[in-house]
Amino acid sequence: MSYLLEKTDILKKYLDLPQNGMVIAEYIWIDADGNLRSKGRTLSKKVTDVSQLPEWNFDGSSTGQAPGNNSDVYLKPVAFYPDPFRRGDNIIVLTECWNNDGTPNKFNHRHECGKLMTAHAGEEIWFGLEQEYTLLDPVDGYIYGWPKGGFPAPQGPYYCGVGAGKVYSRDVIEAHYKACLYSGITISGINAEVMPSQWEFQVGPCEGIKMGDELWMARYLLERVSEEFGVKVTFHPKPLKGDWNGAGCHTNVSTAAMRQPGGMKQIQEAIEKLSKRHKEHIELYGKDNEQRLTGRHETASMETFSSGVANRGASIRIPRSVQAEGYGYFEDRRPASNIDPYLVTGIMAETVCGSVPDADMYKEFKREFS
Ligand code: ADP
Ligand code: MN
Ligand code: MN
Ligand code: MN
Repeated sequence: MSYLLEKTDILKKYLDLPQNGMVIAEYIWIDADGNLRSKGRTLSKKVTDVSQLPEWNFDGSSTGQAPGNNSDVYLKPVAFYPDPFRRGDNIIVLTECWNNDGTPNKFNHRHECGKLMTAHAGEEIWFGLEQEYTLLDPVDGYIYGWPKGGFPAPQGPYYCGVGAGKVYSRDVIEAHYKACLYSGITISGINAEVMPSQWEFQVGPCEGIKMGDELWMARYLLERVSEEFGVKVTFHPKPLKGDWNGAGCHTNVSTAAMRQPGGMKQIQEAIEKLSKRHKEHIELYGKDNEQRLTGRHETASMETFSSGVANRGASIRIPRSVQAEGYGYFEDRRPASNIDPYLVTGIMAETVCGSVPDADMYKEFKREFS
């Protein structure tokens, strides 16, 4: 740890050097396993619009995204954000992956999500995602800060905990929060979670495709910050078996109609539609989610669909305040922490805004799972 800190101190000196008018753009993309990858390049002037960013490519055979004999995968810039690590005019560029035959790469779910969001743009669908995650010791992979070979005292004092022994790695969380604000991410809050070394940040409300974009960016920033602190992040939905909470990505949703007085009617209609597509949604709600959706630890069983006001054991929860006011939003508690937010917000828009499911789009989503 002290070794890492020292190196970071030395690095500061170089980060302050002028760049002779050049800008560094770090291009990021999602690989075949839902992990982030990135590489940097020099641009000759400050970027003010995404259209000024050149397309780029990478060796897809090194990331499981293309065969070795046809390995180029193209990176199409879709959004850019101020870089909190390099600062100045330097930027982080979010990209979509495309094959050289002009089709979206197998793991590019943003493309289909974008089509759905455009088709339903008139309904002004907003999302707020609650990203839970767990910190691990990078050397042995055990939960960060826990006694080696043992366990901390049972869950109870840790959720929103304050004080030594109740929270772990607040420094990582603080650094990440500030980095998100600097980059213009709509981060709406943070809290320590029920299991020690488990945390949550919330992003939103964000409209349409911006939700997936901003969540992936916030994850990228978290990976980079924790890299500096020498801590590992896992988005696995059940990092530790037993009487320890799993990690989810609760998905809060509203349309313009739901946000108007009387919107409870639209909320109820959405829940009715969701009840008819439980299985299809669950398929896109994260790998290993069955380990988490057990009906215990503030979850509903994966087998059945349920909804309720203020009920944290239901698939869908209507917040108490929303029920009282008669309009607002609802929360889908089923998605796991390791979701691709493009898949989840995409199918949500399709189910909630579509009168009949857009079967073609869903078939596209299913590519990866069939
Ligand atoms: P919880 O009580 O479930 O822990 P949080 O406060 O962690 O809730 O998260 C609530 C999320 O709901 C936030 O991300 C917030 O941005 C989002 N949200 C609030 N209002 C709306 C809305 N009208 N539509 C969609 N999301 C919303
Ligand atoms: Mn929350
Ligand atoms: Mn939570
Ligand atoms: Mn929640």
